[in-house]
Amino acid sequence: MMMKRLISILPVLAVATLFAQTPAGYWQQRVEYQIDVRLDDQSHAVQGRAKLKYYNNSPDTLRRVFFHLYWNAIQPGSSMASRAQKGTDTRLYNALSALQPGETGRQEIFSVLQNGGAVSYRVNETIMEVTLSRPLKPGDFDVYDIAWQAQAPACVIRGGRNSPAGVAYSFTQWYPKMCAYDRSGWHADPYIGHEFYGVFGSFKVDITLPKKYMVAATGVLQNASIIGFGYEAEGVKPPPNYGFVNVWKFAADNVHDFAWSADPEYVHEKVQARDGLTLHYIYRPSEAATPVFREMQDMTTRLLPYIETTFGPYLYPQFSFVQGGMRGMEYPMMTLLDISGADWRNPVAVTHEWMHNWYYGMIGNNENDETWLDEGLTSFASTDVLFQYDTALAQKRLRYAYEAVGQRNNLNDEPMSTPANLFANEENLSYCAYSKGEVFMWQLRYIVGDEAFRKGLLHYFSDWHFKHPEGTHLLRTMERVSGMELDWYYAGWIKALKQIDYGVESVRADGSSATKVVLKNHGSLPMPAEVRVEYADGTAERHYIPLDVQYGSRKIAEGVFRHEPWRFAADTYELRLEKPVSAVKSVEIDPDRWTADVKRDNNRKTP
Ligand SMILES: [Zn+2]
Repeated sequence: MMMKRLISILPVLAVATLFAQTPAGYWQQRVEYQIDVRLDDQSHAVQGRAKLKYYNNSPDTLRRVFFHLYWNAIQPGSSMASRAQKGTDTRLYNALSALQPGETGRQEIFSVLQNGGAVSYRVNETIMEVTLSRPLKPGDFDVYDIAWQAQAPACVIRGGRNSPAGVAYSFTQWYPKMCAYDRSGWHADPYIGHEFYGVFGSFKVDITLPKKYMVAATGVLQNASIIGFGYEAEGVKPPPNYGFVNVWKFAADNVHDFAWSADPEYVHEKVQARDGLTLHYIYRPSEAATPVFREMQDMTTRLLPYIETTFGPYLYPQFSFVQGGMRGMEYPMMTLLDISGADWRNPVAVTHEWMHNWYYGMIGNNENDETWLDEGLTSFASTDVLFQYDTALAQKRLRYAYEAVGQRNNLNDEPMSTPANLFANEENLSYCAYSKGEVFMWQLRYIVGDEAFRKGLLHYFSDWHFKHPEGTHLLRTMERVSGMELDWYYAGWIKALKQIDYGVESVRADGSSATKVVLKNHGSLPMPAEVRVEYADGTAERHYIPLDVQYGSRKIAEGVFRHEPWRFAADTYELRLEKPVSAVKSVEIDPDRWTADVKRDNNRKTP
């Protein structure tokens, strides 16, 4: 066990309370889980009992409630399998179709009680509908008691047993999870591969399993001094366990999901990254994996101060970077990383899954309805954070996102506002949510300017942590901090399939002492324009042309010429340079490539 001390002070969130927080009348539900789960590692059988206290803070009377039973998707012929087949995800389809009876995920409900009395329920594969015997009124709460059994499935998507890196158990989306009910009603979305949304609340989870396993989980281990495994405080010696199981007692508050994993070979290293925050690194040691997890410790502790001052403080007492699962996946207070050795993409995976604890974890948006809102922001944040660690890698990621958008920005694509479950295939989802979502943020920064943008990120965090925002709330925050109107950008980029294509049409003499530059908008999404003029004498200057519909301007650096706004519907714009055309070497629009201009070869012109 390794323990480093790197104490810094919790950054105070320097956010004024000047601006409105959540909209008037905002409400959200709350749930308190108490789960007792037992795992038999011979049969992979799981027995569970969940007691939920569910608070109805909505203005509506609820006559039924819904639960997710995600593991029911892990079987041949499931809706997830059909969907994978239709969406040409052959890997997933084949993996699900090949599952033997002993490898499927099955969640079988024994009983559901409402306040101690049995109620009727109906299981529709991954969704359980419970008809309440007594309606749940606004302001009231219910206690639901669910007994279930399950079989831990083979690891074909996200969690399961025996992950690609060899981790014995990755318990993700594993318990009957309350569906979210919000201003749009119930979100009883079937699990067909994507995506997640939960109710904020607390978890108390007791995990009983053979004592040889070490467990990593969401939350803080409550009986660390008895369990040990590196969770105990320095100097504490756990008592010997003469039994054959351990009961691991975890607790977490202000989270909307709970994951855990277990392996007999896990090692556990931890770093106190600052006052009140311990980072845990839990993995199966090997010649390939150990150096990766050691480097991860260095990287994450170095990046933490930047992350907290840029995106908002991490508000839980611990975070765990855990080897396990299939591909990287975010969970509150932990991530499961499918890392088994050196790979240039490791820092990307680590920063990406970690930053999800801001976008999705603490700011709990609906990942299914607005996948871009967490994947786009997380991808942006990961690249932004990597600029503090490995500039070349960050630059590569930035260009990758822009190139992906440039290559595929055509009108046959699906809009970014498509819910995750409805994308035609994985490729479209990935392109829209990740690449186009990331570029949405970089372009937003270009439009409002870095200072207002960074301020907006902190305001968004301050207004929406432990809550459930939508994309328009992010937009409103950015409008407030920048003093600009941004709905034209949101409408074109998120809701519709508009594309950016600007060009320099002509550079001609305007009399003997001036030059007239004609700029042209060939595209369907207008943007403020930045123009760089190079002169024959080696000097250069910058010009900034805001859009009229912005009703404002970003902060302009000293020496940049600001011009009258470009009317958004006008195809062309005339820019006058106070030098003769003979002095002009070249004129280039968007020279820093901050817009996803689909046709760049018309962006630069010589007279
Ligand atoms: Zn992600």
